[in-house]
Amino acid sequence: MSSSIRTRIAQVLTSLPPQVRLIAVTKQVSSDAIKEAYEAGVRDFAESRIQEAASKQVELQDLSDITWHFIGNLQSNKAKKALELFQWIHSVDDLKLAQRLNQLAEELSVKPKVCLQVKILPDPSKSGWTVTQLLTDLSTLNLCKNLQIQGLMTIPPLGLKESEILDVFSRTTQLAQEIQEQNYEHIQMHELSMGMSGDYHLAVKAGATMVRLGTILFGGRNI
Ligand SMILES: *Cc1c(COP(=O)(O)O)cnc(C)c1O
Repeated sequence: MSSSIRTRIAQVLTSLPPQVRLIAVTKQVSSDAIKEAYEAGVRDFAESRIQEAASKQVELQDLSDITWHFIGNLQSNKAKKALELFQWIHSVDDLKLAQRLNQLAEELSVKPKVCLQVKILPDPSKSGWTVTQLLTDLSTLNLCKNLQIQGLMTIPPLGLKESEILDVFSRTTQLAQEIQEQNYEHIQMHELSMGMSGDYHLAVKAGATMVRLGTILFGGRNI
């Protein structure tokens, strides 16, 4: 329903502090619905599949001031395509992928903004750095000069209580601060991509700068 996307976006925007950027997650959302979100003022859109994003971007090419964010699991054979289609990649989840993106970015003469995906708690169903591994890899990540490393991204495991989710987000914020204090030349930690429809209020409390919202804006998906 056309008015309802607009209404929901307006409601969410009024509930967000001004420094928090709304990233509208449009997987399984039609290009027409994306246009409505655009008309309601959204300029940041996220997809989790390369092919789906590619066809929507063709349909939406007139909306030239959209910033596209990739938030899905990125296979290395799709990395080049991702750099061609997206200005941001939130889901850089290991050193090998970071290095591959860095090399491809050089070849394509692009400087993508990226977040490092981190798992604060063990979660076999998700990819991402453990805290220990991330701290170990920082000095090598700092050599990836074609990446603009902007901060951290996290998704809490399913089934946690609110207080535990808040704790995951707070620990992510603290980790970003710790890393920022190490003053790496090519690693910035000012962005915290955390919070989805069910938990973004907690993420905002803990210091999120970007929330990735799908269902609450566009309604339920099939999967
Ligand atoms: C689907 C997805 C979202 C949005 O989830 P909702 O619960 O629909 O808001 C956010 N982040 C990632 C990584 C996703 O895959």
